[in-house]
Amino acid sequence: MIFAESLGILLNAYEAKKMVNLRDLTQQELESFLASLGYPAYRGRQLYRWIFARRVSNFDKMTDLPQDLRTHLSRTAIIETPRIADSSPKALDGTRKYLFELGDGTYVETVFLPSSTAQTVCISTQVGCSLNCVFCATGRMGFYRNLTTAEIVNQIVEIEREEKIRISHVVFMGMGEPLCNFDAVMKAAHLLADPAGMGLSARHITISTIGIVPAIERIIHEGMPAKLAVSLHATNDEQRSQIVPVNKTYPLSLLMKTLRAYAHVTRYPITFEYILIKDLNDRPEDAAALPQLLRNIPAKLNLIRLHPTGCRFEPSPEERVEAFLKELRAAKLDATLRVSRGLECQAACGQLAPQEPRRKSPASDSIPTDLANLADDIQK
Ligand code: SF4
Repeated sequence: MIFAESLGILLNAYEAKKMVNLRDLTQQELESFLASLGYPAYRGRQLYRWIFARRVSNFDKMTDLPQDLRTHLSRTAIIETPRIADSSPKALDGTRKYLFELGDGTYVETVFLPSSTAQTVCISTQVGCSLNCVFCATGRMGFYRNLTTAEIVNQIVEIEREEKIRISHVVFMGMGEPLCNFDAVMKAAHLLADPAGMGLSARHITISTIGIVPAIERIIHEGMPAKLAVSLHATNDEQRSQIVPVNKTYPLSLLMKTLRAYAHVTRYPITFEYILIKDLNDRPEDAAALPQLLRNIPAKLNLIRLHPTGCRFEPSPEERVEAFLKELRAAKLDATLRVSRGLECQAACGQLAPQEPRRKSPASDSIPTDLANLADDIQK
């Protein structure tokens, strides 16, 4: 898949004698880039394998590329890697949170979650987030900027290097709303799922959204090499708008209609996330409403405990969590209570927000998305 617009920008950067960051480019874009330097297409394919399949960022180590090409690349291009500014001590279950400093002095957090069956990384897609969900520490930061494709992929490459493992599963559930950074996120997903690229199985990549309807419609038409997860958190608009402000723009009826269309076209199941909040969405009538809300959707539901993030709500008491789960299972919903991982290092769901000094102010007036009709809606 070629992303012509981004390649055009990068070639312009090259012509302006700026360095091109090669981890931003697909195989076809690398072929075109090398063609623009006078090299045959197969050199682009070799370079692609070095950068993505072998995770090499030093041109000197790319031994099957001719010396003149390596010299040329070292003068015109880079494979930029972020600095690991900090990492938490490993939790008992192996969970560790990483703090990355990006090239412009902003920071993102990424969580490594190993288990006996999977090496998972939870990655960020934006510095901060504009959507301001009340239970989320990232939302309280405000929005700074979108990550580039290279910055998204580099979180995985650097954690692999640091932990000396290969990542098998990736969840786009860290800082930011992935579908508000649509093009960079989709390009990263394609690079991850490409057998000649990062080589992950598309079934092991999950993109999680709060419910950005125009972006889901775009996925219905364009496809996506990943599974979809949706943060639901409520069974009616009154509840949901209290905790997820973007629900006022994309209310539940519209969201569920779009998700039914997604399930119908793709035939893929959808994972729903539901944070249980005391006296807000954990009542028996909510448990009774959920199966109805999810009807005709091949769905799996993850219940999540509300983690401490400094918000005004309280977590559901344990007995109510158990009763809620029992009710859902009695209604034949595929529901589980997600184990909270990373609490010791403030890396659990909703807790990501770097404490590092921020050298920039939130870009509260910035457009947080490249989706044509979303920017105006979010300002409302
Ligand atoms: S939950 Fe997701 S969409 Fe909501 S504020 Fe946090 S990062 Fe943004």
